[in-house]
Amino acid sequence: MKNINLKSLDKTGIEGFIRSLDLPRYRAHQLILRLYRHGAADMDELTEFSLGLRATIRDRAFISNLRLDDRVRSSDGTEKFLFGLEDDAAIEAVLIPEGGRRTLCVSSQVGCAMACRFCRTGALGLRRNLKAYEIVDQVIAVNRMIFPERVTNVVLMGMGEPLANCDEVIDALWRMVDFIGISKRRITVSTAGIVPGIAALSERAPEVNLAISLNATTDEVRNRIMPVNKRYPLRMLLGACRKFPLSRGRRITIEYVMMDGVNDFPEDARRLVTLLAGIRCKVNLIPLNPFPGCDFRRPPSERVLAFQAILMRHKVRTLIRESRGQDILAACGQLAAAREGGGS
Ligand code: SAH
Repeated sequence: MKNINLKSLDKTGIEGFIRSLDLPRYRAHQLILRLYRHGAADMDELTEFSLGLRATIRDRAFISNLRLDDRVRSSDGTEKFLFGLEDDAAIEAVLIPEGGRRTLCVSSQVGCAMACRFCRTGALGLRRNLKAYEIVDQVIAVNRMIFPERVTNVVLMGMGEPLANCDEVIDALWRMVDFIGISKRRITVSTAGIVPGIAALSERAPEVNLAISLNATTDEVRNRIMPVNKRYPLRMLLGACRKFPLSRGRRITIEYVMMDGVNDFPEDARRLVTLLAGIRCKVNLIPLNPFPGCDFRRPPSERVLAFQAILMRHKVRTLIRESRGQDILAACGQLAAAREGGGS
């Protein structure tokens, strides 16, 4: 056993590593806390371990860290972090402070295979899945940078489709909960609609919040703007939502990116009411965030308000979400860190 990345190990892996050094079990817990809660970037920060022990660990293992390549702050307080990975791929994470909350929007893949037509990451294609540790490391790295503050909420709404990388995402979710100490109820997984992944999420990471990027009310329009709909059409997707177990007081978030003349008609609002019947949910209306080369426009605000009014009249909880960080291309759908051609 040489050159093990300590962050590539899950709980059983860390316990095995500690055993291989003939150390008592409680050392595994100490190591996990140092790595995940205190964000140890280097063996020298394993302060519960003697210098001799640190040297022994260093002989066999290392601690990987995301490389911070850029950090940009928006006029509204949102911050975007550009991280470089071991293979020089790049991902972005966005920190959104709001009252006492510090919400971190993390990436689950380098690029994305979903090819949603209105999304800047979608134009990149998929380069690769992130490993569990690369997903959690975004939280660890940001916690370190904003110390003594901490990330309080995590949304998997950055680059990539989390449910197309289910195993690593679920491993990462558990590390956020068990190792970093973030409550499941403060974590949200957002999907373009990978139906089998929705059931897997509810079984393997119960009580994590679910958000669905719906964005259309007919298969015809949804097929056009979100190719994933051809495989998992609206009926299947909403069927999976109906089956998704929700504990008391919880709701599924339905995200609806509004595009001028595409999905912003009063008929869409009325169809949405029907589609969502029987689903405990809340709707977030997100006026499109344009980016260089985007084919669509955001609707005039009267149309967004009229759309919301129809939903509210039918007792559908609806918020208009102006995404933050638009001036630094950090808003929903604007992330694109791939160096080749991303242009960010
Ligand atoms: N793949 C996942 C998570 C990443 S996208 C998903 O589809 O949910 C996160 C959210 O940003 C989605 O709700 C998506 O619909 C929205 N989004 C994508 N492009 C956007 C844009 N240009 N403007 C506003 N929202 C956008």
